[in-house]
Amino acid sequence: MDCLFCKIAGKEIKSEIVWENNELMAFKDIQPLAPVHVLLIPKKHIQSLVDIKGSDQPLIGEIFSAVSIVAEKLGIKEQGFQILVRTGKSGGQEVPHLHVHILQGTRF
Ligand code: 5GP
Ligand code: ZN
Repeated sequence: MDCLFCKIAGKEIKSEIVWENNELMAFKDIQPLAPVHVLLIPKKHIQSLVDIKGSDQPLIGEIFSAVSIVAEKLGIKEQGFQILVRTGKSGGQEVPHLHVHILQGTRF
């Protein structure tokens, strides 16, 4: 599939990986909007938040659990951070593969 984040998940395109397991990957945003800006994605292609199917629910739970693991890895778990999930055209989503922005150091 011609999807940028599928290629990053498959390591066809290089990224600065912060953390990964079999299902998920967290990597640094190429154009950071804050001092800490990491993207957390499922390795499986899901287009956006509104494309989640019932069978994806365990994976969604995994994503939210992984936010805390990634925040710990980044050393921002204690001080706090923001997450952002842009969804669809009006939501400003540019890459059509579900991703959670993890941001710290700038208030949006
Ligand atoms: P969206 O606007 O879809 O929520 O966010 C997409 C994000 O992906 C943007 O913050 C953008 O900087 C980031 N991005 C786009 N292309 C690449 C890339 O090739 N590598 C990395 N690491 N981030 C990317
Ligand atoms: Zn994809």
